[in-house]
Formats: sequence, C-alpha cells, structure tokens
Amino acid sequence: MEKFIRTENLSFSYPMDDEAAETTSAFALNDVNIDIDSGEYVAVLGHNGSGKSTFAKLLNLIIVPQKGKIFMDGKDITANADEMSDEEIFAVRRKVGMVFQNPDNQLVANVVEEDVAFGPENLGIPREEIRQRVDEALKTVGMTEYSQHAPHRLSGGQKQRIAIAGIIAMMPKCIILDEATAMLDPVGRKEVMNTIEMLNREKNMTVIHITHYMEEAVRADRVIVINDSRVYMDGTPKEVFSRIEDLKKVGLEAPQGTELLFELGKLGYSVPNDCLSVEECANALYDLIEREQKR
Ligand code: ADP
Ligand code: MG
Repeated sequence: MEKFIRTENLSFSYPMDDEAAETTSAFALNDVNIDIDSGEYVAVLGHNGSGKSTFAKLLNLIIVPQKGKIFMDGKDITANADEMSDEEIFAVRRKVGMVFQNPDNQLVANVVEEDVAFGPENLGIPREEIRQRVDEALKTVGMTEYSQHAPHRLSGGQKQRIAIAGIIAMMPKCIILDEATAMLDPVGRKEVMNTIEMLNREKNMTVIHITHYMEEAVRADRVIVINDSRVYMDGTPKEVFSRIEDLKKVGLEAPQGTELLFELGKLGYSVPNDCLSVEECANALYDLIEREQKR
C-alpha cells in the first residue's frame, strides 16, 4: 500500500552568504529517505542544528526542497515547487498541521475559541461547520471550559493544547510537533504528551513528535535520529536506545534507567540492554540485586 508520507533523497539548503558558507555545511537536510505510514507515532531526535525543524518545515511546505521529492498519499507535493499555488499549499497543510515550540507565538486571537477557529476560517470552511469543529477540538484537548478565556492568561501546557486544538480543527491526518514541549513545565509536558497520544490512539492521527526529551521519545512506536542533516538511526525505541554508544557519538543519550543498566553491563553485570520505561529498568535492577544476593 502507498505510504502516507514518503521522501525521496530530500535535500534542502538555506540561502547563505560566503562567510556563512565557510562555517556551515551546505545542506540543512541531505538525502533523506523516510517513509511514514498513516497512523504511525514517530519521535524525531537529534542535537541542535541537525536538521529536525528543516525536515518538519519541508513536510508542511513552509520551505520547498532544492533536491528530492516528498510524496503525500502517493502524490508528489513538490512537483512544481517553484510556482506552487495557494491551493496546493493549503491542500498540504490541511493534511499536515504543525505545532511549534513557543506557545505565545502561535496564539493569534484574544479569546480561546476564536483562536481555535482561525485555522479552519483560513481554509474557507463554512461558519456552522467551524462552530462544530471548534467545540469538538476543544473537547478533544480537554479545554472546553476555557473557550471564552484569554489565551495569554493560560499556562504553557494549556496554551499548547489550544494550539493543538487549532490544528485539530483543520482535521489533518497528521500533526507535527516541533519541540512543542520544550518550553513547558513537567505538568504542561505531561498534558501535551497525553493529548498527542490520545490523538494517535483514539483518532488514528499520524504523529511526528520532534523532541529532545528521551523519556518522550521512548513512548513513540518509532524513533528517527537525525544527525548532521542525515538520517542516523531509524527503528523502534528498543532498537534505537539499545545502541547507547552510537547515540553518545552524536551527543544524545538513552533514558536514565537505560543508561544505568548500560553502565552496570560495562562493569560485567548481566543486565538487559533494552529496558526503557522506569518500571522496566527498576525490574531489571531488582532481578540483578536478587541474583547477586543469592551468590
Ligand atoms: P534542528 O531543528 O535540528 O535544531 P534546523 O533544521 O533548525 O535544526 O537547522 C539545520 C541547519 O540549518 C543548522 O545548521 C541551522 O543553523 C541551519 N538553519 C536553520 N534555519 C536557518 C535559516 N533560517 N537560515 C539559515 N540557516 C538555517
Ligand atoms: Mg529545531
């Protein structure tokens, strides 16, 4: 079956003056081939400047590639990248919505429900339908009771949920979160994580979650690591996080429990290398202690 998203040798470079060209590599994204199925939950990792946001912006046609292609539902959305009509761009953004890092930059109206309505209004959706979509979207993110509130007075996590509601109201197949949890406190992060996981599991929405929190990445079905503008790893969380040495090479690490077990393994203890959640790691540690005490 045709993949929902497929990139083919996708490459992009930002315009640069000569001075910048000397210090920065030419491509912000280089020869990237990634398939994403409808309904997949993908985490994207990579240190600062590796190309994650560039990848996200390409999928949403905020920027267009100089080389390579992006297929969406089998259609080459980059076919006439140089002279794309607003309709063609809207058609893509209707399928793929984006949530950014800073919640304050995404709020456009003075009342929550107007903010959520902004996206569908831009898509030219009829009034009555917008009403329904806004109510439904606010319900989905658990913010119905805030519909008349002023967005700027909400917490960071609530603001991001409003931003997500604004995307949901456009009914996309896919939502991309570009470090949308980075500026939030632990409570806000949990609210946003619960919201996107519910969208994936219950509404079958495709989720692409760019994050630098390993504990968030382990919750996805699949983890893609981007390094130096290229795909460095692509696998299940267990596959990716069991390669701790390879992660360290590119400035990343595994979740703390996984790291601890890895260090114990280096000391010669027999411990599994694919524990991810705190519970799994704690159980592995408990087993180890029990075995050691019996010796
Ligand atoms: P990430 O999101 O992983 O931190 P980005 O995709 O933002 O990385 O950046 C990839 C590369 O492109 C970096 O070298 C960065 O400096 C460069 N870059 C990003 N945005 C711009 C821009 N608007 N103009 C010029 N260079 C940029
Ligand atoms: Mg970024």
